Parts: sequence; C-alpha cells; structure tokens
Amino acid sequence: MANPGDFAYTLKQQADIVRIVGEYVTLRKAGAQNFIGLCPFHQEKTPSMSVHASRQFFHCFGCGASGDVFSFVQKIENITFPEAVRLIAEKMKIPMPKMSFSSPEEERVAKLRGGLLDVHERACTFFQEQLRKPEAAHAREYLASRGITPAIIAEFRMGFAPDSGFLLREVLRGQWSEELLRESGLFSWKDKSQLPVVSGQLSVDGAPPGPVGSMASSDGVLTTDNRLLATAYAKFRNRVMFPICNETGKVIAFTGRTLATDEKAGPKYLNSPETPIYSKSRVLFNLDKAKEAIRKLDYAVLVEGQMDCISVYTAGFHNVIASSGTAFTELQARLLGRFSKNIVVNFDPDTAGAAAAERSLALLISEDFQIKVLTLEAGFDPDLYIRRKGAAAYGEALAHSQKYFDYLIERARAQFPVRTPEGKVKALNYLLPHVQRVPSRIVRDELANEISHRLGIDSAVLRQELRHAARSRSSSHVSPTSVAALADAERVLVRALASRELAHSPVSDRDGQDLPPQRAQNQRSLGTPDLDFEPARQAHFALTRERLHEGSAAEALIDALLLAQEHGLDPMSMELEDADRNVLAGVLMDEREELTPELLESAIRSLRRRVLRRQLEDLQHQLKEAERRQDPASAARLLQERIKLRRAMTAMGETAEPPAAGGLSD
Ligand SMILES: [Zn+2]
Repeated sequence: MANPGDFAYTLKQQADIVRIVGEYVTLRKAGAQNFIGLCPFHQEKTPSMSVHASRQFFHCFGCGASGDVFSFVQKIENITFPEAVRLIAEKMKIPMPKMSFSSPEEERVAKLRGGLLDVHERACTFFQEQLRKPEAAHAREYLASRGITPAIIAEFRMGFAPDSGFLLREVLRGQWSEELLRESGLFSWKDKSQLPVVSGQLSVDGAPPGPVGSMASSDGVLTTDNRLLATAYAKFRNRVMFPICNETGKVIAFTGRTLATDEKAGPKYLNSPETPIYSKSRVLFNLDKAKEAIRKLDYAVLVEGQMDCISVYTAGFHNVIASSGTAFTELQARLLGRFSKNIVVNFDPDTAGAAAAERSLALLISEDFQIKVLTLEAGFDPDLYIRRKGAAAYGEALAHSQKYFDYLIERARAQFPVRTPEGKVKALNYLLPHVQRVPSRIVRDELANEISHRLGIDSAVLRQELRHAARSRSSSHVSPTSVAALADAERVLVRALASRELAHSPVSDRDGQDLPPQRAQNQRSLGTPDLDFEPARQAHFALTRERLHEGSAAEALIDALLLAQEHGLDPMSMELEDADRNVLAGVLMDEREELTPELLESAIRSLRRRVLRRQLEDLQHQLKEAERRQDPASAARLLQERIKLRRAMTAMGETAEPPAAGGLSD
C-alpha cells in the first residue's frame, strides 16, 4: 500500500491511471472523470470496468476487481507490489529510489524474478554467440534449410546451445548465485545426496543417462569448491534455441529444437520448465512483436508451433502468435483479448494436436472470440505452405478463412450421414456442445437456425434441443449490486464523505472547529460566499452526532467512510464488503450533479425525517401493545410522545414528503 511520504505514494499521485490501464485495456470516456472498458479480470462482452481519472482507482462492477494503479498492474502482470511500483515508475520515466519491500519474502521473490530475467538475457546472448561459432555449423545449416535468413535469426534472437553440459554454467556462475541458477530452469540439477542409485533417473528433462562421476570427468572442469554444482548441467544441449519472451519483450524461457538424430537426444522440442518468471499458461509466443499489429488489424492469426509463427511473421503477417502446441488457457485468451477478440486459427486439424486445437477453440468460443478457421491443403503447415507457395498465396488463404461454425457444420456433414434421421441426430449431438459454449443467447439462436437449415433438420426440434442446452448453461455472470438500491439521500452523504477536501486533512486534526450545518446555512442565507462549504466535514458532523445512517443499507459503508475520513485515508483503499465497494465506486463514478450545500442539507434533512418516521412507527407499535395489554398509563404517555413526534415531523415538512423508497432495511 502507498502511504504518504513513500515513493509509491508520490508516484501514485503522478501516475496517470487512465494511461496505464489504457495500455492494457481499451478505454473510452464515459463521464467527466471516468472511463470504461472491458474488464481484463473476467469474461465479458459489455464493459463493466470503470477507471476514475482524478480519484485514481479502477473498479469492475462485474467481478468486483478494484483498487489503485498498483493493484491493477500487480494483478494483470501477476507481480508483487514493489515490482508494480518499479514498472509504473519506468512507464512514467520517474527515477526509482532504492526498493523497499513489505516483507522479506516479497523482497526475495522480487529479487529472484529480477535476477532470473538477467540470467535469461545473458543466456540468450550466450546462445546467440554460440550460433556464430564454427561448432554451430550444423545448426546454421538446419536453419538455412528451413528458409531462415540471418536477418530472421537476429530478429528472433535465435541461438545454439552447445553440446557441452557445462559451458553455459561457467558463463553464468561468476555473476549469479547458485539459488538463482537453480531456479532458472536452464539446468538439470541434483544434489549429490539426492542422486539416484539408478543412473537412468538422471534423464529427467531430456538429460542423458549416465553416472555423474563419468560426466564430470569427461568435462574436466570440476573443482572442489563447487561440489553442489558438480551435478548441474545444461538442460539444453545441441539444440537450436528460440527465446520465449513476455509481453514486454523480455526473455523468460526457451524452446530448444534438437539437432541430434539419435534416440538419446530427448524430445524434438524441449521447453523451459515453469519458473517464477515463466508460466506457459500465461504466455503467447511472439505476442511482444505481434501485439501492435493485432491491435491495428483487429485480429490475430494463431498457429501451433514457433517455426510456423516465425514463418508467418517473416512473410509479412505481423499479427501472428503461437500456442506452442498446448491447448489455449483462459489466461492466454484474456491476454489476447486485450488486443483483439477476432482470431483466425491456422491449425492442422488432422495432426496429433487436433485435440488441443479443439480445446483451444472451445475455450475461445466461451471467451467470446469471433473465430475463423484457416484450413490449408492437406500436408501443408503454415511454414511449408509459405515456403512452397509464397506469402501472397498465404494472404489469399487467410482472406478466405472460414467462420468457425461453418467449419464445424462441414465437419459434421462429412462425419455423419445427415440424410438419415440417425445421422442428423449424431450431427446435432456433435454440434450442440459447441453451440452451447457461445455466451450470447441471440447468437445461439441464430446458430440454431443456421444449423437446422444446413443439416435439413426440423427447426422446432432443434430449437427445443438448443433451448435445453441454453438452460443447462451455467451462468457465470455476476450481477452488479445496483447503485440505485441506495436512497438518494445516502448517495449524497456517501459522496460528501468521500469528497476530497478532507482526504489530506484528517478531521481529528481540526477538532473543535466543527461548524454545525445549521450555522453554515445561516451564513449562506446572509449572503456570505460559500468558502466554508466542506461537505465531508459537515456530513461527518451530522452523521456521527445523530447516527442518521443507522439501520440503513449504507450503514456499514458510511461507518467505513467516517473512519476513512477521521484518519485521512482514501475511501477506496478501505476494507469494504464487495457490495459496499460496488456502491461506493458507483457513486464516485457518477458525480454528474454538483455537490452543493443545499443538496447536502436536504439529504441530511431527509435522513432526519426517516429517523423520525421510524420512531413514529415504533411508537405506533408500542401503543398497540399497550392497548392490547389494557395499560392506559403507558398508552397516555405514548400518545403524548406521538404528538411531539408528529409536531417535529410537521416542522420538517414531513407530511408533504412521500415515504423514502428503496434500499432501506425497513
Ligand atoms: Zn471484472
């Protein structure tokens, strides 16, 4: 959390939350101070995330994600608070003082991640250097055979991991600690004490089996001061190396393509394991290079492998990314969705990856992407297609990619004999789960028509099936707490309490100077200029003295705001129930009407009337009880009180006032 006096606090005041959130989410202006956009933290079609420019907070009315610029960056980048501070300082080009951490663990993690990024950067240049060496001739030949030019090699920072298991370690060891190298995922590593008796177990992660002693002696670089390192050897050996970058272009992992032909070489493609900086479910290969083109063209091309991705990219289609052969995850879909919701998938449906491709498509559909499918002639992957037929032909194929549901219907027609009733049912059962994933009911309905038309199925029957499918679809929509549920008077008081005048001057500092609302009003009626209007102080005064908010829907929220005010805290930084945070954000986002002394006065009066009305109701109830008990003494006393209350109410103009509606617990 940013506290006054902190660097983070100063940074927060200077950082433009609209600009920073706007780098991740497309925002549009929705009011004088607020902007709205699609929330990156949950799936949605219409924007429910608001960003308040001057109050510097964001709030999603859909999923409740809420906070300041730091929490936004922390959440979206999945990093710690100090890292978010650093990132924002970099974005704002504000020099960073020495980092401070809220816990030793946080410091350890942040330093580890920073160190791992450095290690990867160094490893990447190491592999690049190695590719230029005479020993890498076969690697350069392989790349040339795939049509990869030196310019492409440089652009994608491709490299070569030498056959030696120790060369990289020697390069990195002087600069970084053992712990860091352990966490880097670049080495296979076993403590001597943990060494398996069965030597074959060393072949985890594609390392060759063999006793450690023999490896060490064959390399001949071991000394006694690095006994633990004795069992570390490079995970990637004799491989062409492709760095994997995060969204900002920093190297976080590698894929190595083997150049060995023997069985022992391990998998053809070897990926870095998960590390504190690399989680394969959150990364899309080439997104760092592709994101601007994706945003500009408003669609992405998704291919399966890195080689395909590089081919398509260098053929001039810069909006291409790769899923690296695994099924798309929700995190990846949201990552991509920040740039465009349109995607052309160029998978080979008949390969071993077909299942992963199907799962990816299913996920993208449910995440509301508009999908087209590009099917190349049998036997062609994008890389081969471009090399044989050229970029123009690929562009042509891309332009003629098919809508996903057309593609599915065609597949259904090819798989099932739709001329027979049984075939129709089978085709329907094949298609329905896909239809069911579409979030929009209207689109599902359109698809039903389309499918019934194309398969020649009676529309009424299909619609019945579809309706059933639609019903069983579990709703992931979180209904936002309605701000309207709060009575107008309470909204005004919430606004007043959260008004900025007091944000930097706690009430407690100025005790004894409280100006009763009544006196403030008198001054105004005498024509005094409104210099004394301090809505936060006036609301605070009335509410703490009279507890006017007691028993109302906003009671907890108002109590939290009173507390925030007394301590000079930012209201949005208070601990609140989700519903209350929603209400507060809603009220703050919607400050169209100017907060005037009159507005505040009438809100307070309205709450006072409500209190009187409640007392009256209570009295009526007691009176009835007294009559039932045949207790004339009590009844007479209660009647007297009722007269007093009614007078007070008449004095406040209560008889002309309709009962307060909505949001009250009474
Ligand atoms: Zn959300």
